[in-house]
Amino acid sequence: MTDLTMTHQTLEVKESLEERCNKILRNMEASLTARDRVGIQDFVLLDPHTSESAFLDNLRKRFHENLIYTYIGTLLVSVNPYKELDIYSKKQMDTYMGVNFFELPPHIYALADNVFRTMQSEFNNHFILISGESGAGKTEASKKILQFYAVSCPSTKLLNNVRDRLLLSNPVLEAFGNAKTLKNDNSSRFGKYMDIQFDHQGGAVGGHILSYLLEKSRVVHQNHGERNFHIFYQLVEGGEEDLLRWLGLERNCKNYSYLVQGDCAKVSSINDKSDWKTVRKALSVIEFSESDIENLFGIIASVLHLGNIKFDADARGYASLSNYQEMHWVSKLLGIPAQVLQQGLTHRKIEAKSEEVLTPFSVDHAVYARDALAKAVYGRTFNWLVNKINESLANKDSSRKTVIGLLDIYGFEVFNVNSFEQFCINYCNEKLQQLFIELTLKSEQEEYEMEGIEWEPVPYFNNKIICDLVEEKHRGIISLLDEECLRPGEATDLTFLEKMEEKMGGHPHFLTHKLADQKTRKTLDRGDFRLLHYAGEVTYCVVGFLDKNNDLLYRNGKEVMRQSKNAIIKHCFPPTEPDSKRRPETVVTQFKSSLVGLTEILMSKEPWYVRCIKPNEAKQPGRFDDVLIRHQVKYLGLMEHLRVRRAGFAYRRKYEIFLQRYKPLCPDTWPKWKGTAAEGVKLLIKHLGFRSDEYKMGRTKIFIRHPRTLFATEDAFQV
Ligand code: ATP
Ligand code: MG
Repeated sequence: MTDLTMTHQTLEVKESLEERCNKILRNMEASLTARDRVGIQDFVLLDPHTSESAFLDNLRKRFHENLIYTYIGTLLVSVNPYKELDIYSKKQMDTYMGVNFFELPPHIYALADNVFRTMQSEFNNHFILISGESGAGKTEASKKILQFYAVSCPSTKLLNNVRDRLLLSNPVLEAFGNAKTLKNDNSSRFGKYMDIQFDHQGGAVGGHILSYLLEKSRVVHQNHGERNFHIFYQLVEGGEEDLLRWLGLERNCKNYSYLVQGDCAKVSSINDKSDWKTVRKALSVIEFSESDIENLFGIIASVLHLGNIKFDADARGYASLSNYQEMHWVSKLLGIPAQVLQQGLTHRKIEAKSEEVLTPFSVDHAVYARDALAKAVYGRTFNWLVNKINESLANKDSSRKTVIGLLDIYGFEVFNVNSFEQFCINYCNEKLQQLFIELTLKSEQEEYEMEGIEWEPVPYFNNKIICDLVEEKHRGIISLLDEECLRPGEATDLTFLEKMEEKMGGHPHFLTHKLADQKTRKTLDRGDFRLLHYAGEVTYCVVGFLDKNNDLLYRNGKEVMRQSKNAIIKHCFPPTEPDSKRRPETVVTQFKSSLVGLTEILMSKEPWYVRCIKPNEAKQPGRFDDVLIRHQVKYLGLMEHLRVRRAGFAYRRKYEIFLQRYKPLCPDTWPKWKGTAAEGVKLLIKHLGFRSDEYKMGRTKIFIRHPRTLFATEDAFQV
């Protein structure tokens, strides 16, 4: 190549860079011009001293124009519109495909596309953390992202298979793991982390799902206005006549005691009949065999039958079955001899010296054991389901893949009465907030310091203090709870409460009736403890904590299940399982370890964020409740994030990596170049014409203030 052509090429690069910058600026200007009506699409462009009120004004303006997405740099804020918007069509997907972040109005597709392209160009792993309280729109957001990848990724016939399975895993898992709560008609009652695997051409070639702590207690108990898991209603409402007859079910949810406690089997926003059809179809696509499906619905029906088994006290006060019909259905569907099942429901096995003795249950005990069995059966079947889906999503080819992880968990929730389940869910949210803080506010600011970049620190609330209160070894709430669970017979929920009072009295985020001042005391019952979470106060009723944490299933409950001929149950209750001789880990401790595992998975990838906001408690469109939203903006740390973003740098790259990637844009200098990477980068950005306020040179990295500069540079490759 002659010098002349090189100069010519360089000129073209410069022009294109300028052109792209201009295009991005034009889009920003358009947004600034329209600002009075539709607000600003990136909060970073608001006045430097944006107040919380101005922030809210901007969100409100956009919300009323049906513009539910707004950026803070590359973080996406999404406000749940509670109505269908015409912004998720194939045409919209095409519009956002391969276009730079700031060239078009904010959209979840823009984020998805940008993650995808970064993954492809840097060949590394990413994750999208979707957070917000219950009903804020996390699950919907994760579905939109998945749909975008399914449609936009290069596909072949083989990949289409994977794509369909990825998409259809959603309705199946939602049917078994979601339920109507007072906060959300389709509330996730389990945590879900899904890896989507891509090959080097960007085709989605596989996936893997990790599920976290399903709220099993819902199987046997629902609060007023809430439902059991969707699948039960889908089966009863939508199941074919033949199927129901085979399962011994009647087409009336009111007949099943596990479905009537919430007194709201019918929900206007839910169509159980058509959802049933979707799930049924999805199960076939995910390669469930007919016998898997038979076994699966045999189990779901068995749980309903189990719930209808009632006990009477016999002459000695021991439990006996009030009627045998339901028990016979369970026996038939699970393939367990009726006698064995009956004995299992009314007796427990205890070890006396070296002998095993059967002792009869009282009626209360029998009800407890029956419910424990129903929960165990459902919970283990759910895990089987996740594994089965994973088998179908697994990619057998061993070539290197990159992944995009999607995290969609149960959101922070506060009810009138909060129990062990809310404690676990809110603890999980606390951990994710901690991760967000670590990755954005804390490490970002520490990095500026380390790299010697001049920096005015932005103060923020670090919720580590609450995480520690809950999980610290030997001293946290979880440790105390586990300690009490180790003292069967002596410990009770109340002794657990007393222990907490003893150890945590004086902690700024912990309160009980006894510890409260006179005024606050009125708001607490004696059996309550209150945590001041990052997202607000939650009062937990301590009743049931020990029991739910122990999650005891009587030993012969397991033994009975081991005799099952139903292949799924057989798989879920293997003969080699350690039995009650070895103490299993408590529920909360298992959960804690699984969250540590999740954090490790996430920390090894590049983070992206979607922060979802719930606009009102009434689940209605068009209602923007200022107080509610202000509260979320506060606890989600959005103002602090904005301050760090505005004053800081959206991108940073090690000199070596930056140089490696962009040096082809300056072909007259390379490959003859011999200096250090930092010197090389200096030359390169001079050549590219970066404005001096757009970047800073740190000790080991270059920091770029605004993503548009990097995007424009990326685009120069396409000249
Ligand atoms: P949870 O923590 O309880 O699982 P969530 O944050 O996952 O809550 P979603 O189930 O995603 O909440 O959303 C609740 C409801 O809000 C949806 O069922 C849907 O009706 C509505 N919704 C959420 N996002 C959107 C959207 N982008 N467009 C239209 N409706 C939406
Ligand atoms: Mg959800």
